[in-house]
Amino acid sequence: MKALRTFTVRPVLSERLAPLDRLASNWRWSWSRATHALFASMDPGLWAQVGENPSRMLGALGQARLDELGRDEQFVARVNEEDERLRAYLTGDRWFQSLPGPKPAHIAYFSPEFGVDGSLPQYSGGLGILAGDHLKSASDLGVPLTGVGLFYRAGYFRQSIADDGWQRESYPVLDPYGLGLTLLREDDDTPVEITLAVTGGRTLSARVWVADIGRVPLLLLDSETPANPEDLRHVTDRLYGGGGEHRLLQELLLGIGGVRAVRAWCRITGREEPDVYHTNEGHAGFQGLERMAELITGEDLGFDAALAQVRASTVFTTHTPVPAGIDRFSRDLVAEYLATDLLAGLDADRALALGAEDYPGGDAGVFNMAVLGLHLGQHANGVSRLHGTVSRAMFGTLWPGVDTDEVPIGSITNGVHAPTWVHPALKALSERAFGDALTTEHDWRDRDVVGDGELWAVRTAMKQELIAEARGRLAAAGSTAGAWAGNVLDPDVLTIGFARRVPTYKRLTLMLRDPERLTRLLTDPERPVQIVIGGKSHPADDSGKLLIQQLVRFSRDPKVRDRIVFLPDYDITLAKTLYPGCDVWLNNPLRPLEACGTSGMKAALNGALNLSVLDGWWDEWFDGRNGWAIPTADTATSDSERDDLEAAALYDLIEHQLVPAFYDRDGGIPVGWLERVRHTMTDLGAKATSDRMVREYVGALYTPAAVHAHALAADGHAAAIELAAYIARVQAAWAGVRVRSVDASGLAQQARAGERLIVRAEVELSGLDPADVAVQLVSGRADADGDLTGERSVRALDPTGAHEGATVFETMLDLDVTGPFGYTVRVVPQHPHLVSAVEFGLVAFAS
Ligand SMILES: *Cc1c(COP(=O)(O)O)cnc(C)c1O
Repeated sequence: MKALRTFTVRPVLSERLAPLDRLASNWRWSWSRATHALFASMDPGLWAQVGENPSRMLGALGQARLDELGRDEQFVARVNEEDERLRAYLTGDRWFQSLPGPKPAHIAYFSPEFGVDGSLPQYSGGLGILAGDHLKSASDLGVPLTGVGLFYRAGYFRQSIADDGWQRESYPVLDPYGLGLTLLREDDDTPVEITLAVTGGRTLSARVWVADIGRVPLLLLDSETPANPEDLRHVTDRLYGGGGEHRLLQELLLGIGGVRAVRAWCRITGREEPDVYHTNEGHAGFQGLERMAELITGEDLGFDAALAQVRASTVFTTHTPVPAGIDRFSRDLVAEYLATDLLAGLDADRALALGAEDYPGGDAGVFNMAVLGLHLGQHANGVSRLHGTVSRAMFGTLWPGVDTDEVPIGSITNGVHAPTWVHPALKALSERAFGDALTTEHDWRDRDVVGDGELWAVRTAMKQELIAEARGRLAAAGSTAGAWAGNVLDPDVLTIGFARRVPTYKRLTLMLRDPERLTRLLTDPERPVQIVIGGKSHPADDSGKLLIQQLVRFSRDPKVRDRIVFLPDYDITLAKTLYPGCDVWLNNPLRPLEACGTSGMKAALNGALNLSVLDGWWDEWFDGRNGWAIPTADTATSDSERDDLEAAALYDLIEHQLVPAFYDRDGGIPVGWLERVRHTMTDLGAKATSDRMVREYVGALYTPAAVHAHALAADGHAAAIELAAYIARVQAAWAGVRVRSVDASGLAQQARAGERLIVRAEVELSGLDPADVAVQLVSGRADADGDLTGERSVRALDPTGAHEGATVFETMLDLDVTGPFGYTVRVVPQHPHLVSAVEFGLVAFAS
C-alpha cells in the first residue's frame, strides 16, 4: 500500500542539545566547516544517507543515539561552541555596517532559482547557484537583503543514466518541514496566504516558506495549499517543468506574489520595506508591474510617475546572450491575465507595451521578459565585462540611434562564495597557514608558509576523494558500469574536469571531435590524461540527451573506460567534490555565448588551472599563468569547421602544454605546476569571489538605486511626478529637435596641435528649454571612414544666445593630440534623475 503523504516525526531534543535545532534551521551550516562537521559526526554513515542535511539528520537519528550524544560532554561542548558562533555571526557588525554615507535600507532580490545546498534542489545550474552565492555573501557582508523565489515541490530533476546511455529523470518530492524551512505565519499562527487573481475569476494562493541563509531570509512561495483548486496546486510543482501558461503562472507568482510576500514579511517582522528591487534575470519582471499598481492605487500616481518611481529602484541583471534563454510569452496570454483584477489600476495596454518587441526583427505577438526587465530597470548589468559588451549590442535595438557602447547596460562580473566552494581540506590548510578560515585574499606563493609537499598532498587527497566518489557513483549506477567501476581513474594521472548543463553552445562533445586523437591522449603509456564529466540536459531537450549518450557510449569502450567517466546527477553535492579533485577545469563554449561561467572560478579557488575558450570571466582574467586559453576560430566559415579547429587547438594544448607541465617532476612533485596553482589561488582568490561581486553591486547599483528611489519618492513622489512630466514633454518635442548647423570657423584645413577649436552650434529646441537638453561635443580619434572609434571625450556646449529661432550653443576645445581626429555635435535629454542621458533612446546628431 502506498502512503498518500510521508513526513518525518522528529524526536524532541533534550535541553542540552536544544541548540542543534537552531543550528539545523539556519543554512549557514552548509558553509561553516565546523557546524557541517558537527552534524556529520553524529552518525557519519547516516549523514550521507540523509543527503547531508542537518534537519533530516535530526529526524533520522532516533532517540537512543540522541540520548547518547546528550551525555557526551565533548559533543555538548561543541554544540554550544557552534551555537555561540552562529549567534555572533547573526548579530555582529560586518562590512556593510561600516560603510559610510547613504546606503540601501533593504534590498529584495528576486530569482527563479536558488542554489543554496545540494539538499535544497531549487536550481538547475549557474543562474541559481549564483543566486545562492549572492545571498551567502550578502549575509557574510551584513548586506540587508531578502531573497524571493518559489518553492518547487520536486525541485529540478535527479539524473540517472540508463544502460543505453540515455538520460532518465526522476522527481523526488521534497518535504519542506524536514529540510529546515519554516512556514511564514501570522501572529495568530495561521499560515500567510498570498493571493493573485487569475483568469476565469479564480484565485491563485500560495504559502511562504522561509529559509534562513545566515542573516538573509529567503522567502519561497509554494502553491501547494488547501486554498487552491487541484490544478493551481501544481503551479510550483517543478523548476522549468512546463512551458506556456504554466511557466507564466510561475512567473506571475514569483514577481507579483513575491512582492506581496515581501510586504507580508515586513509587516509581520517589523522590517523596513525594501528600497531596492533586484531581479536576477527576467523571470521576476512582473514585480515591477505589481509595484506600479501599488503606487497607482495606493498613492494615486499616474502610470508614468509610477513607472519612473519603479524604474529608479529596480536593478535588472541579464544573464544570457542566447535568445532561447530568454522567456517570451504569447502577448495575448499575458493580456488575458492583465484583463483580470491581477494588477488592479494598471493600464493593461501600456503594461503590455513594456514587454513588446517593437523593434526591427521583433515579434509583435510576443511579450518578452528581458525587454520588460530593461524597461523597468533603470540600473541594468551583464555578468562579465565581455557579456556587458555583448548585451549592449544584443539589446541595442531597444535604444535606436544610440551608439552600442553607450547602451545603458553595465557589467559586474560574477563570483563564487568561497566558504561554500573551497574544499574543507584546503580550508584547514588555509587556517593552519594564514590563521583563519577565509581561504581567499591570501598569498599562497610563499613556500615558507605552505610548502610544496603539503600543498601537493592536499591536492592529491582531494583528487583521491573524487576518484572514490566516481567509483562509488559508477558502481551504484548498476549493471554495465559496475564491473569495472573499481578501477576507473588514477590519482597520479593528470585529471581534467568538465561539467555543465548541456545546451548546445556549451559543446559537451567537442572533445569527441577526433576520437582517435582523444584516445591517444587518454591512453598514453607514459603520460596519460583522464577526464571526469558531468552534466544534465533539460528534460525536454533530446538533442542534449543525445550528446550525453554519445559521451557515455564513448566512455564505456574498454580501451578508455578507466580514463574517461561520465558521472550522473551533476549537482552542488557532486560539484563540491568534483572541482577540488581536478587538476584542470575545461570549458569550451561557443564564444561569446557564455555570459560568465562560474564553475571555473570554483575550480580555481581549489587550486585547479583553467583550460578554456576566452569567454565570460576567462576573457577578463586569463593572464597566461593561471591556465590556458583555447584559441577561437573566428574566421571559420562553418560551425563544423570552427569545431574542428577549436578541438584541434584543445588537443594541441593538452598534448604540448598541459601534459609536459604536469608530468615535469622534482622529487615526485610538479614544482612548476604548483607555481601556477599558487599564482591562481592568490590572484583569483581575491577576484573571483561573490564577496567582491556583492560589494560591487552595493557600490555601483544598490546604493545609487536607493538614493535615486528616495529622491523620487520624497514629498509624495514629487520628483517622480516631475520626472514623468519631463519625459513626456521631451518625448513629445523630440521629433522637432535638430542641430541646424555647426560652425567651427577659425580653424584652418590643416589643424595643428595646440590650436583651439571654437565650436558654435545652432539648435532648434522645438519648444524645449535649453536646460532640458545637453548639447555635446563628442570627439576622439577617427578612422578612415570617419568613425569615432575608441576612447571619446564628451564636452558640453553652453547656451550663449539665439539666432533666427534657434538657440546658439558654444564651447572651445584645445587640440592636444595629433593624428586623425574627429568630432560631432549631438543633443540629448538632460535631467538630474536620468542615470544615462540616452536611456530613452533620444539623441539628435548634427548632420
Ligand atoms: C557552478 C555550477 C554550475 C555553473 O557552472 P558554469 O561554469 O556556469 O557552467 C552549474 N551546476 C553546478 C552544480 C555548479 O556548481
